[in-house]
Amino acid sequence: MNKTNIGIIGGGASGMLCAILIKKANLDCDVTIYERQDKIGKKLLQTGNGMCNITNRALEDYVTALDMYNNDFVKQAIKTFDLQTCLKTFESLGLVCWEDSEGRFYPYSRKATTVLNVLLKAIHDLDIKVMTNTCISAIQVCDDFSIYTDIFQLFHCDYLVIALGGKGSIAYNDNIKTLLTTVGHTVSKMYPALVALKTEENIKSLKGIRIKAKATMLVDDEVVYKTQGEIQFKEEGISGIAIMECSRFYVVDKNNYIELDLMAEKEEAEVEELLTTLYSNINNYSDVLLGIFPKMLVFDLVKRLKVLDSKHIAHLVKHYKFTIVDTYGFKNSQLTKGGIVTTEVNPFSFESLVNPKMYLLGEMLDVDGMCGGYNLHFAWASAYLAAQDIIRKIEE
Ligand SMILES: Cc1cc2nc3c(=O)[nH]c(=O)nc-3n(C[C@H](O)[C@H](O)[C@H](O)COP(=O)(O)OP(=O)(O)OC[C@H]3O[C@@H](n4cnc5c(N)ncnc54)[C@H](O)[C@@H]3O)c2cc1C
Repeated sequence: MNKTNIGIIGGGASGMLCAILIKKANLDCDVTIYERQDKIGKKLLQTGNGMCNITNRALEDYVTALDMYNNDFVKQAIKTFDLQTCLKTFESLGLVCWEDSEGRFYPYSRKATTVLNVLLKAIHDLDIKVMTNTCISAIQVCDDFSIYTDIFQLFHCDYLVIALGGKGSIAYNDNIKTLLTTVGHTVSKMYPALVALKTEENIKSLKGIRIKAKATMLVDDEVVYKTQGEIQFKEEGISGIAIMECSRFYVVDKNNYIELDLMAEKEEAEVEELLTTLYSNINNYSDVLLGIFPKMLVFDLVKRLKVLDSKHIAHLVKHYKFTIVDTYGFKNSQLTKGGIVTTEVNPFSFESLVNPKMYLLGEMLDVDGMCGGYNLHFAWASAYLAAQDIIRKIEE
């Protein structure tokens, strides 16, 4: 009997792990990764500020973790591949992890290179074939799968795993839609997410300021998301983890606002009282604010007010509002929102419901999660479930 051939398009997080898990099962099969860049796993090195936040404590309980994703499609994946399974999977490859105070897991070295090195070693030891600088530009489904590169090379495989990632960052890719629609899948419109947001207000003078605040995202005056964390002011907009999280809810062509609460631990009346007390000694509201906030921020607050008194300042401090007009785009985003419609994919195996023996993994699906390790976790989980299904089918 001929050896089973498994082709994996995309040598990112999900593609690499899927290849490893299939090969670890010791079946009579060949696994080849086709990667359009000059190396596999390049994007992993950028993740978690170079530390690679691989998963999160919240994934211990899939019911609460579901809230971290846009789509209940993830339920089976994060139920089967929960935190413990994730940690055990990486431990079996030799990776030791470290958990920070907020439940985010990183490699013990705090270096993304350690995660990549562990994956690369397994790929080498398991004899997984890697073809870099190989961009797949067409797929044909017959008895097996024919895959064509952009320089007209042709490869065949019995099982095809597609793990192209999103449109963000260095893995920027514009052929997801073409590749997938030609094999019968529907791809919804894609948007950048986990990305900085551009404001209508001119905030150049605030550039470089970092503060902690509560952020509320409003779309057409409806509150769609609330969070708390770091805010960074940029030349044309705002960034920081809290803003990146809000960006998942940005809707093109609607009225999008972000409201910052600059003194989240106090009620508005308490802020007013504090300002009044300080003013009774200092006699100047700008000077009062200079004792609380960075100088340029004070100038912006004062500039926005017609009436300078404790009541109006307190209200602005609690409702410092920005009109959001755009995102900083795919190239600056950590994630792609939208993608392959998940009703066309089996949530237990990630097998395509359109083409048997074809598997669709990771970020290219219409699944997006919060900052904190949820997106890599989903990529690993999809790889794990697909690998299990392929192993089972080959063994039968
Ligand atoms: C700056 C940054 C920081 C991030 N930090 C974190 C973090 O700390 N924690 C977290 O959970 N998530 C993080 N993410 C998100 C996370 O990296 C992704 O969700 C995850 O990598 C998705 O895995 P994937 O396998 O689906 O796709 P990817 O890892 O993007 O891999 C896709 C691969 O497919 C290749 N490819 C694409 N098209 C073709 C083609 N036609 N032919 C051949 N190869 C192709 C690409 O070159 C790429 O190597 C971060 C993202 C960025 C950009």
